[in-house]
Amino acid sequence: MTTSVEQLFDLKQSYEMVERLERVVPGGGIYFTRSPRFASYGEFPAFLRSADGSRITDVDGNSYIDFICAFGPIILGYNHPAVEAAANRQQAAGNALSFMPEVLVELAEKLAARWSPEETGAERFADWLIFAKNGSDVTTLATRVARLHTGRPVILAARDAYHGFDTWSVPGGAGIPEGHRSDIDFFEWNDVASLNEAFERNDGRVASAILCPIRHDSGHDIEMPSAEFVAAIHAALRSADALLIMDDIRAGFRLHPSGASHLALGFKPDLVCFGKALGNGHPISALTGRDELKETTSAVYFSGTHFCAATPMVAAVAVLDAYDDEQVFDRVTQAGERLRDGIAAAAHRFGVEISLSGPAAMPNMLFADDQGLKKMRRWAGHVARRGVILHPRHNWFLSSAHSDADIDEAVEVAERAFELVASGGE
Ligand code: PMP
Repeated sequence: MTTSVEQLFDLKQSYEMVERLERVVPGGGIYFTRSPRFASYGEFPAFLRSADGSRITDVDGNSYIDFICAFGPIILGYNHPAVEAAANRQQAAGNALSFMPEVLVELAEKLAARWSPEETGAERFADWLIFAKNGSDVTTLATRVARLHTGRPVILAARDAYHGFDTWSVPGGAGIPEGHRSDIDFFEWNDVASLNEAFERNDGRVASAILCPIRHDSGHDIEMPSAEFVAAIHAALRSADALLIMDDIRAGFRLHPSGASHLALGFKPDLVCFGKALGNGHPISALTGRDELKETTSAVYFSGTHFCAATPMVAAVAVLDAYDDEQVFDRVTQAGERLRDGIAAAAHRFGVEISLSGPAAMPNMLFADDQGLKKMRRWAGHVARRGVILHPRHNWFLSSAHSDADIDEAVEVAERAFELVASGGE
């Protein structure tokens, strides 16, 4: 299906449903990033009905090429045939079971082997694994392991980094008591002096630093870690005898063919959190660590009704196979490069100044001089009404289902939107 850049999508049903939603579901922070209020209100679809390959379909029947990929999980495209066939088989055999599913051991062994020094050529980081559902489950677990292992309370994090909905950089922090936050402190990304100050302020009390492999905060250019910053983190942690928790939930499987982003960037983590792309849309997350931390981890209470659901684990096994067999890492990277180059050239043609940052597989775009991301939202709104989802406040994601034709169509739409923004048109 090709979209005419002049034909605007009708969103009547979506916004009628928003009115119904707001009567029965609290707004504000609840589901905020999924809301059109987080993107471009009135221009983005609010409710979706289905998804397939690179496309999502909304309740008005509009089909979009989607570069948000469910905020990261979709790396093989929606509805990947082999993954869904495996998941459907397990769903029919049983998903919620009274005891552990047999696939749990297979998945743990598969990941431990995948990330062994023999496979990666790098230091060990994944001798054991624990599975859960959401990223927040395992980032929270990781901090408990670090605190228990070191006997110290403080977790240091980069200011504004998101690691889940518990305690730290939760926007506003409503409902989180001050006392609950007092053992968290912040430093600035890529700022060695600020990092060292944070360690000094908390001298003798630091359990861990938690970090994403790259800085991908909303509304900022993506920043890669400098070599000095990586070295400073290692040095500070070593002298504090504290642990490095790597939060690879969003970037995982998009920065390194093994799936573990830190291998591309030189970090040497003690604990690594994965989620999102591991299940290609099936809810599964994982915490990994080395043997030295296994005993401590065994002592941490960690439980969830659905942590042992069988279907997402079966799906994850199939995701790993497809990821390797179908050269997904290379395809996703190439697709991202094509998108980035196309968008940069389109902006240039209309004299619009933008910055495109980040790895090709999860790029970010911002307009120059864009207070409150106003231009970005207007541009993304024009793009969405023409059938392409390029989020104004969140990095984009590529999947291996994005074909050259999808990308060329997206670039054509993006170009028309640059023209409209450049001319001040609505
Ligand atoms: N860490 C990072 C880097 C994330 O991007 C997210 C989710 N966007 C989380 C943790 C939390 O994951 P979840 O929403 O699955 O709890």
